[in-house]
Amino acid sequence: MSLEDIDKIGNKKVLYLNNLGIYSVDDLVSYYPYRYDIIKRSDLNSIKIDDKIIIDGAIETLPSIYYYGKRKNVMNFRINTGNMLLNVSIYNRGFLKGKLKIGEYVTVIGKYCKGNRVVATDIKLSKLSNETKVEVIYHESNKINSKELNHYILDILPNYECEDIIPISIKKKYNFLSKIDALCEIHKPTSSIRLKRAINTLKYEEIFLFLFKIYKLKKERKSYDGLKRSVLFNDIQNFINMLPFELTKDQIKATKDIYNDLISPSRMNRLIQGDVGSGKTIVAIIALYINYLSGYQGALMAPTEVLALQHFNNIKRYIKNANIEILTGSTKKSDKKRMVDRLKNGDIDILIGTHALFSGDVIYNNLGLVITDEQHRFGVNQRKSLKNKGITPDILYLSATPIPRTYALTIYGDMDISNIKTSPSGKKEIITILKKNSEIKEVLQMMYEEIKKKHQIYVIAPLALESENVELEDVNDLYDKMNKALGKVCNIGLMHGKMKSSEKEKVMNKFKNNEIDILVSTTVIEVGVDVKNATMIVIFDSFQFGLSTLHQLRGRVGRNDIQSYCILISDKDSERLNVMINTNDGFKISEEDFHLRGSGDIFGIKQSGDMSFKLANIKRDYNIFLKVKEDIKDYVNNSETEKLNKMIDYYSKLD
Ligand code: ADP
Ligand code: MG
Repeated sequence: MSLEDIDKIGNKKVLYLNNLGIYSVDDLVSYYPYRYDIIKRSDLNSIKIDDKIIIDGAIETLPSIYYYGKRKNVMNFRINTGNMLLNVSIYNRGFLKGKLKIGEYVTVIGKYCKGNRVVATDIKLSKLSNETKVEVIYHESNKINSKELNHYILDILPNYECEDIIPISIKKKYNFLSKIDALCEIHKPTSSIRLKRAINTLKYEEIFLFLFKIYKLKKERKSYDGLKRSVLFNDIQNFINMLPFELTKDQIKATKDIYNDLISPSRMNRLIQGDVGSGKTIVAIIALYINYLSGYQGALMAPTEVLALQHFNNIKRYIKNANIEILTGSTKKSDKKRMVDRLKNGDIDILIGTHALFSGDVIYNNLGLVITDEQHRFGVNQRKSLKNKGITPDILYLSATPIPRTYALTIYGDMDISNIKTSPSGKKEIITILKKNSEIKEVLQMMYEEIKKKHQIYVIAPLALESENVELEDVNDLYDKMNKALGKVCNIGLMHGKMKSSEKEKVMNKFKNNEIDILVSTTVIEVGVDVKNATMIVIFDSFQFGLSTLHQLRGRVGRNDIQSYCILISDKDSERLNVMINTNDGFKISEEDFHLRGSGDIFGIKQSGDMSFKLANIKRDYNIFLKVKEDIKDYVNNSETEKLNKMIDYYSKLD
């Protein structure tokens, strides 16, 4: 049954429903109310102006109607509640006039106004039967209001067929309602206790479906007969011994995790999270090396060209004999064509680049490992698209913005995680200072002190939310100001997103080679860039940035044993800025971010379709998530294989 088939819903209404995100009958019945207004039979002695009231009384005067506008009317009459006379007005219900007879009882629902008046939203031609009335409130549009939505839904529900997804054993355990009962209750509550049961039932089902999907993915991945590699750890150890530094304990642990994943037949889906500068890159390089030794191609995807280039140069230095190439959006067409051919033939061992690495025309010969650096997390759906391309490589993610521990347990249940908590020795804590715009002189003085020591500085322009042009203006403006203030004593460079990548690269190289002392930039430098001599970052209007961005930006400095500074300029105080001042620990910051924000857009992870819930909220309902996870584990362990397989089939069809 489609929306059009419903009696009262014409083509226009279908469009209005679509605008609310409702495209099917299923969508409609799962368009849940977000609030219930419980209106008690009002005690007229204690009501205030603007209160919502519900009251019954006998009709005292015959209704009078005034017509206005196009087919609009207002009807007025008076009722006697027993201890008071109320003037009732109701709009556009003129058709009821004939039914309102003197002496008859009516129930009036509406807003209490000055002059003993009630502006009614509804009247019922009977005495109030029970003591309360519940109004079901949905997110409405100016074309469809809650009342209409509720009408449509209640119309459908008696004939609506739905399957109960929650297994019976679990349902019993929690005293859940059947799905249809839960739906009826949530759209037309009969009691607060039963409503709660209904919400709990539907919420649980939503979480169950989601986590079961993750469970299924993980099971598939673990039982997947993937690539086998027969590389000895000794060979890897030799490679590690050749590095110019000793790996930290956590780096060694992460390396071993990856090694074990790669030599096992099941597919790797691992996240390495560690603070900026904790040394994830070298671990990734070792992973590429293991993969290279076993004869597979590897790809490393970076979020920006600047970063891709940095990785490219780095990797070439460490993995000597391999054929390594770089492919980005600005690679020349002819070069790309040649590269794609060589890639297809297996002449390229390792390809570094931006997401151009996975554009349609790029075909690998035997891709064994995909590493994505920062931000690029493949959601469930993207992983599917990789699969559709016929590629099932091992996947490794690097992230400097750790997932809050709580969150990781649930949403990223399909992912194995290695943490790098210790930084390479010699790293000093970055000192973070909050300054107001009026204190800019002090800030310039501090900058000057660093310049005198031949250190380098990043200056980050405010974020322009309205348009890129404003951002450009801001960064140019800041560049001019910096030039005026410090241009005589040092070289100042400029970088922003509107520049060609070759230009950006040029500027970045100049900064790396210390030909530029102060780099004024937008957040294009946000991720990964590694310039050891940079010891100060000044961030203007820092209150605008999210915690993850601020933390990323701060990570541009403090990359060696010199004391580094992060100066946050803001006229507004914010909890986020306080978090920044109080800690340098990315793991702590991610937890804080989780607490400060609601669900959804957590620590830089864009809310993907995978995790939009109607009733559940990852933060608020975290304990339910944990419970569901346990329940799934139990359920799966206790059920016979056949039942389980059936269930897995069933859920696959739901995608
Ligand atoms: P991340 O990618 O985690 O932000 P990087 O991998 O860029 O950090 O490492 C930061 C810097 O620390 C790099 O210059 C890298 O060469 C260096 N480094 C990495 N591991 C170690 C180590 N164990 N000892 C000393 N320096 C290291
Ligand atoms: Mg990095």
